[in-house]
This record gives sequence, structure tokens and C-alpha cells, in this order.
Amino acid sequence: MRAHIPFNKPCIVGSELIYVGQAVAGGHASGDGPFTKRAQKLMEDRFDAKRVLLTTSCTSALEMAALLCDLGPGDEVIMPSYTFVSTANAVALRGAKPVFVDIRVDTLNIDERLIEAAITPRTRAIFPVHYAGVACEMDEIMAIARRHDLLVVEDAAQGVFAKYNDRYLGTIGHLGCYSFHETKNFGCGEGGALVINDPQLEKRAEILREKGTNRSQFLRGDVDKYTWMDVGSSYVPSDMLAAFLLGQLENMEKITARRGEIYAQYARMLAPLDEARTIQIPSVPQHCTTNYHMFHLLAADIDERTALIGHLRQAGILAVFHYVPLHSSPFARQMELPQSSLQVTDDMSSRLLRLPMYFDLRDHEVTEVANCVLSFYRDKDSK
Ligand SMILES: *Cc1c(COP(=O)(O)O)cnc(C)c1O
Repeated sequence: MRAHIPFNKPCIVGSELIYVGQAVAGGHASGDGPFTKRAQKLMEDRFDAKRVLLTTSCTSALEMAALLCDLGPGDEVIMPSYTFVSTANAVALRGAKPVFVDIRVDTLNIDERLIEAAITPRTRAIFPVHYAGVACEMDEIMAIARRHDLLVVEDAAQGVFAKYNDRYLGTIGHLGCYSFHETKNFGCGEGGALVINDPQLEKRAEILREKGTNRSQFLRGDVDKYTWMDVGSSYVPSDMLAAFLLGQLENMEKITARRGEIYAQYARMLAPLDEARTIQIPSVPQHCTTNYHMFHLLAADIDERTALIGHLRQAGILAVFHYVPLHSSPFARQMELPQSSLQVTDDMSSRLLRLPMYFDLRDHEVTEVANCVLSFYRDKDSK
């Protein structure tokens, strides 16, 4: 049966298509054109970020961050196993090792209380991941990093426009990485950004992003020719993508407000199941402002989750789970990483289910999805 409620759908909320037309008509469709500058400036102003550079994806932003941390063979980077593969791949590409630390039961973020025990003389950096747009405990993580002289790279792929206390995610560590993939809150199909909070890293970041050349300085008129300065790659997105993205970024409040309504409606309708301890629905700590990136629930076990996914699918509703924890993947096993117990990660990842969440999801559809979850548990009880 074809799903009539997909899991995700990209949206157009403002001037996206007009801007794309202007980017082409203006004669500068390659990278670092007027729309790239506007999108970067908008984020710098809104997030109070020192410097934001658009990239082709969050994956490329993470790769740039790994290069800026000067990671090499033998180096170790602390991160959760419960994350998307790009967080770890950025490190593995440099020949360094991800060291996985377990997560908290409340936010599913890296458990900051376990970080210090994972630090060795080879540790170079911590890559916290803000799961679902809810912040990691950044004060503690930054304090640990200061004590051990480590760099902090925030994987804020899911955390654009979310806050920890009064600071925007991505602007707290030395570097922050955003995603504008179509499955994220604000998107341009494929895209990302590197947030540079440590000014010492800015000049090299520009070079890495421009294929290892000082082209950015040349275009600003700082130097009179441009040449090969360092390693690098093609991390600059087309201005057409930046144009689409600008249309989305100009509507961050509108998009977030709608996602918040959807989140609240799911939470209200599923609260009885949570109160009965049949399922668990997410909770956001007081000092965190979420961007409502996802609404997820925890089933009792993997079999119940599988049955619930099937029940929803029968009704034409697509719900998905993630992640297969990285420590249990074939590639991580082959790397022979230091072993530690990742009990919470194993448990949560086998029970978590994400419900459809996108700007154009209508109220009656949210009701339909929540009712379908409720009917699954009603049928289960009466069996
Ligand atoms: C989506 C995501 C990424 C990758 O983002 P891309 O822009 O698709 O490269 C990395 N980390 C996390 C936590 C993500 O959710």
C-alpha cells in the first residue's frame, strides 16, 4: 500500500523559487555568490556567530572540522555511537579513531558524566551531537575540554535554531556543523554550514573549503593572485542552493512554529500512553529550547516497535527508526575501537520510533497518526 502520510516532505514557505531564478539570471550560479553571502550573514546575525561558511553538506562541514582539528593516525575523538555515520566518518577519513561514549536516557545525547573516563593521552577532540534539536550539556563538555586541552566540534546537523540556555547550538564549541539536507528543519536538498567560533581557525577554513587555495582572500582583494596553499576539497555549494536556502532561513520562525504545533499535538494525544508507562515520549530539559526537529517515542522493545511500524504502514503512514549504533556496524568492528559498555545506546536504539514530522503535515493528519498509535496499543491490550 502506498503511504499517504510520508515520513518527511520538503517545503516551500517563502521566496525560495524566486531567489533561485534570480541566482541564475544574475549570472553567478557557482559558489560564494550574493545568495551565499546573504545566507551566511543571516545566520551570523541571528545566531550571533562569528563566522558561518556554507558547505555542500553537514558531512563536508564535519570533514572540514576534522581537518581543522589536525586529526591524524593514532588520534582519538570522543563522540556518541548513537549518531549518523558522518560524525564518525569525518574522523575515520583522517585515520583517527572515534571513541564511543554512552548516551543519557532523557535526551539521548552523549552522557557528559562518562566523557572524562574515555579521555586518553591520544584524545584530541570531543564531537557532541545535539540529537533531535535538544542540546547536549555544553557547559560541562566545554569545561572538560578546557581541563584537557581538547577541541569541541558540535554536530548540530539537527540543531539549527535550537538553543542551550540563551546560546544557539553550533556557536558554543570551537566549531559547529549544520545540515540543510531536505530531512532537516530548513533545507535546500543537500547543504550544510561550518560555524567558526574560534577565530584562529577561520583563515585555514576558507582555504580548505576552496580546494586548498587562497581564492577567498583573492576575491576580497587581500592578495593579488591565488594559489595552492594547503590540502582542501570542493566544499562550496552553488549559489542556486544558497538562494533556495535563504528563502527557508528567512522563515525559520514560521517553520519552527508549525513544527512546534505538530509536536504539541502528538504530545497531547499520546500523553495517556506515556502516563500509563506504555510508551515514553520525549522531554526537553528546562534550559534547552528545541527546534522540534523530531517527535519520537520509545516502545517497550524491538518486537513491539516492529509491530507498530507495520501497523502504521498498513494505515499508509510511514514511521522510521534509527540509528543502528555505530559501534555495532561492520566498519567500526573492523577498526578495533576501544570497547566500553554502551547499554543505553543499545537499548534506546532498539526501541525508538520517529513519527512523520514536516511543515506541511496537516492537523487532521497528525490526529490520524496519533490515533493509529493509540489503536495499536488498544488492540494489543484487548488481545
Ligand atoms: C543529517 C545528519 C548529518 C549529515 O548531514 P548531511 O547534510 O546530510 O551531510 C550528520 N550528523 C547528524 C547528527 C545528522 O542528523
